[in-house]
Amino acid sequence: MSKKIIVLFRNDLRLTDHPALWHAANTGAILPVYIHNAQLQAQDKAQNYWTYYSLQHLQTTLRSYNMPLILRQGEVITEVLQLALDTQADAVYFNERFSESERSEDEQLTTLLQAQDIEVKTFYGDSLFDLTAIFNQQHKPYAIFTSFYKRCLQEHARKPLGSPATLKAFPMTVASLALEQLQLLHGNWYVKFNNYWCPGEDGAMEQWTPFLESNVFDYKDKRDDLAKEKISKMSPFLAAGNISIRSLWATCQELLDEEDNAIFAQQIESFLRQLIWREFSIYQLLHFPTFSTVSLRSNFQHFDWEPHADRLDAWKRGQTGYPLVDAGMRELWETGYMHNRVRMVAASFLVKHLLQPWQEGYAWFEHTLLDFNAANNAMGWQWVSGTGIDSAPYFRIFNPSLQGEKFDTAGTYIKKWVPELAQLPSKYIHAPHTAPATILEQAGITLGDNYPLPMVDHKTARARALERYNAIKKA
Ligand SMILES: Cc1cc2nc3c(=O)[nH]c(=O)nc-3n(C[C@H](O)[C@H](O)[C@H](O)COP(=O)(O)OP(=O)(O)OC[C@H]3O[C@@H](n4cnc5c(N)ncnc54)[C@H](O)[C@@H]3O)c2cc1C
Repeated sequence: MSKKIIVLFRNDLRLTDHPALWHAANTGAILPVYIHNAQLQAQDKAQNYWTYYSLQHLQTTLRSYNMPLILRQGEVITEVLQLALDTQADAVYFNERFSESERSEDEQLTTLLQAQDIEVKTFYGDSLFDLTAIFNQQHKPYAIFTSFYKRCLQEHARKPLGSPATLKAFPMTVASLALEQLQLLHGNWYVKFNNYWCPGEDGAMEQWTPFLESNVFDYKDKRDDLAKEKISKMSPFLAAGNISIRSLWATCQELLDEEDNAIFAQQIESFLRQLIWREFSIYQLLHFPTFSTVSLRSNFQHFDWEPHADRLDAWKRGQTGYPLVDAGMRELWETGYMHNRVRMVAASFLVKHLLQPWQEGYAWFEHTLLDFNAANNAMGWQWVSGTGIDSAPYFRIFNPSLQGEKFDTAGTYIKKWVPELAQLPSKYIHAPHTAPATILEQAGITLGDNYPLPMVDHKTARARALERYNAIKKA
């Protein structure tokens, strides 16, 4: 009789290159399981939308193998243990995860299952390399991205596995909740996300294939051009695991191997480098378990932040009076996504111009981003705030108007997301408060009424931030 193996699905909602599923499929009969813990997962998070539709898609693909997806709700350890005992499973397989709480949950689960003589097998998770084995010459974790990057290039990225040819189901019926019973969808905020996204494994390929056919070839030169959208927008698919990072790496690597044109090769390499930034964030989460809550540079514990509900709220609503920041924050609310360049500017504005603790920004991004993941979000916020390792220095403070001029010269991106500025000539679009009264009137703008005056003056805010920073430098 073949082994009965429970396969856990978590942030790997796909069939292709799912190591736990692949190995289980080659070993025995399978019970695919997803457990939703409503206690740990905020009910109104944007990402619940992605989880819902990814699960729906996964159910459909598994059905084509005559395989159910068992959905349960509750505390993961209790649910898996009970399910394993009820079904007399021989083994539980899952892919590794990286945050401290996830690893601790997986360790406890392993101990309890093994105590019941149930075999546990874990497989490499969501990374290209074995990040637990990469150290510098002093056998310490790399602190500088460039050194980490060069080291990764010497390693062989793990090869992706295909999809299992067949799947054999457990010889019994196992009770499952209906997807709606997980209550992942609340209110109607998420409905509009359907205008922009198609979560799931097929949706991932639909997003990825055209990028590979065209935009990757000028990625390096055009990725910061906000009007052109030359980025891949693969991040929400990666966060839910609708596609594996190894598949992205391997297809780009093949493209690179075939590419004779040195300019095109540079563009592809630039994209691959971004995938290693993602590895670097996971690496930091592994080595600094408090990465997503505590500033890595300890002198920032003495930083004189000014927590202020109204300032934070204006930032969240895209009502700061700085058009690029407002456009980004509104894009985020509308689509669950924001371009990386604008994330940097908006995050810097919150931390440096408004002196709000970066953790507040982290929490808002966790609530609103469809691609939220603890490692990338923590690295993004700590990088921008100057609190992390290999971060932008605190004294480098983005000027939001100049960033707009540089990366959205004609104001196309701003006009899309801040429609009340649509009639303003490009010359003033990045700083409407500098426009003469007649121009504002012709554009239908009354500052302080239908578009805010700048919340803070850039020069004053910059000087204030530097003063606070100098105080902790001496501390
Ligand atoms: C304050 C802040 C918060 C962020 N929070 C998140 C988050 O929660 N989740 C998330 O996936 N990314 C986060 N990022 C990183 C980055 O903004 C997104 O990964 C990127 O914008 C996703 O768009 P894309 O898929 O089109 O990227 P592309 O430019 O097409 O890049 C391809 C992939 O490379 C990786 N990548 C690209 N840029 C970065 C980067 N700077 N750091 C790490 N990985 C990168 C991502 O996996 C991305 O999907 C954050 C950045 C900042 C500044």
